[in-house]
Amino acid sequence: MTEHGRPAVYLDRDGTLVVERHYLADPDGLELVPGAERALSLLRDAGYALVVVTNQSGIARGLYTEADYRAVAQRLESVLAEASIYLDGSYHCPHHPDLTGPCACRKPSTGMYLQAAGELDLAPERSWYVGDKVTDVLPALELGGRGILVRTGYGGEHEASVPDGVAVVDDVEAAARYILAEDDPGGGAAPPNTGRRPTRR
Ligand SMILES: [Mg+2]
Repeated sequence: MTEHGRPAVYLDRDGTLVVERHYLADPDGLELVPGAERALSLLRDAGYALVVVTNQSGIARGLYTEADYRAVAQRLESVLAEASIYLDGSYHCPHHPDLTGPCACRKPSTGMYLQAAGELDLAPERSWYVGDKVTDVLPALELGGRGILVRTGYGGEHEASVPDGVAVVDDVEAAARYILAEDDPGGGAAPPNTGRRPTRR
């Protein structure tokens, strides 16, 4: 973890950026959560790296293949490109411990976050971790960033069990606005680069 790395917003995919389809494997089933493009635009314009981090145990379960996963990922990229939004990185874990054994990447493990940080020169301790499950926000507690649970996807089921210090908001656009307000209470455009963090409630 570097002092000078760029802050990221690590985003879960299913149920957070795109509508939860329970093992989405068909690109035609991809639908953005309302406000997702706006959220990503706001965060990009504020200087955050946009990194998708997604568990895809459907691959280990034999429900779909890596190629199917890539087709969906490419559809997401092309849909976002129409709004001139480009992800800085996209990472997926194809494993499931019962089927493929333990791995370092499946959330809540931090493998994908650290890989992204190394490859993209990110600062995980000054980054945000956004998703619809507790497993999406737990890495923030380990890596020193901050988590936000969204109520879309499975968020409603997970809301009651979020750890202290994790915010809960309606959706990814609300998460983006929360991040901008917390990191830059003065309302300027640039994200903090001093290593300071806002006070936790
Ligand atoms: Mg999810």
